[in-house]
Amino acid sequence: MPTSATRFLTPQRLLMASVVVALITITLKTLAWYVTDSVGLLSDAMESLVNLASAIFGLVMVTIAARPADDDHPYGHHKAEYFSSGFEGILIIVAALGIVWTAVHRLLDPQPIEQVGWGLALSVASSALNGLLAWVMFRAAKEHRSIALEADAKHLTTDVWTSAGVVIGIALVHYTGWLWLDPVVAIGVALNILKEGFHLIWRSSQGLMDEALEPEVMATIQQTLDGFASQRGEVAIIRFDHVSTRKAGQRRFVDLHMHMPASWTLGRAAAVRVSVEQALMSAVPGLRASIQLLPSDVEAHFFDEADLK
Ligand SMILES: [Zn+2]
Repeated sequence: MPTSATRFLTPQRLLMASVVVALITITLKTLAWYVTDSVGLLSDAMESLVNLASAIFGLVMVTIAARPADDDHPYGHHKAEYFSSGFEGILIIVAALGIVWTAVHRLLDPQPIEQVGWGLALSVASSALNGLLAWVMFRAAKEHRSIALEADAKHLTTDVWTSAGVVIGIALVHYTGWLWLDPVVAIGVALNILKEGFHLIWRSSQGLMDEALEPEVMATIQQTLDGFASQRGEVAIIRFDHVSTRKAGQRRFVDLHMHMPASWTLGRAAAVRVSVEQALMSAVPGLRASIQLLPSDVEAHFFDEADLK
């Protein structure tokens, strides 16, 4: 039962809130770095860039990518999210390399941390804000069944844990006087950010290269087709082949051949085609099937590679 709160807290509004909160945390954490001169806190501020990227990515997913197909983009706009995640991945990697550079310099020339109290207070305040938002988003993600919201909430939660690690590190530096610990914490955070960045770029490249559907989904498709395939003795009446799949964001596509006796009327063949299409679409949510009808003894060939030479 949707309450008035969930009606108001749409994925789009929450993701916009997430962009604003990310900007606030970046500001607070940058301020924390400025007053303390701790590279650990600087890395924590950069980590918030990942949140900003993730929130923008989510917004792209629920707005541009969700736009219905139009004349210029008859297959839809689902790949918009790959541009977004690819670009964000590059930004994040640059930020992480910047942190490593700064931290290595700091390791060679350790500096005392100043105004630790203020720095930690700012960092804890922005983490509390992140934690609160993540909690609201997780609840809303469940009610709206939104992948974009859930992914963003997960990023926020990771960020809260990273910040906790940084805060503990800085407190330790303060009590023990181990100045080297600050840049070491920063490098640890930077490596984590690098990992996130590469993951985003990898994801985009796979999406742009028409990656096949997941093996489980392929198995479901094959099972559904097997349910329609029929044969009399050794002779196949209905046969499926040339099954290929691809993915564009949340949208999934399958192309296949359906071979049937040449003597069938077009009406009969079309009726079977419709039921296969419907069975596929209900077995795999978000699937678009395009089915080519062919007589049993005729094969359609594609010479893709030869074409392009
Ligand atoms: Zn075929």
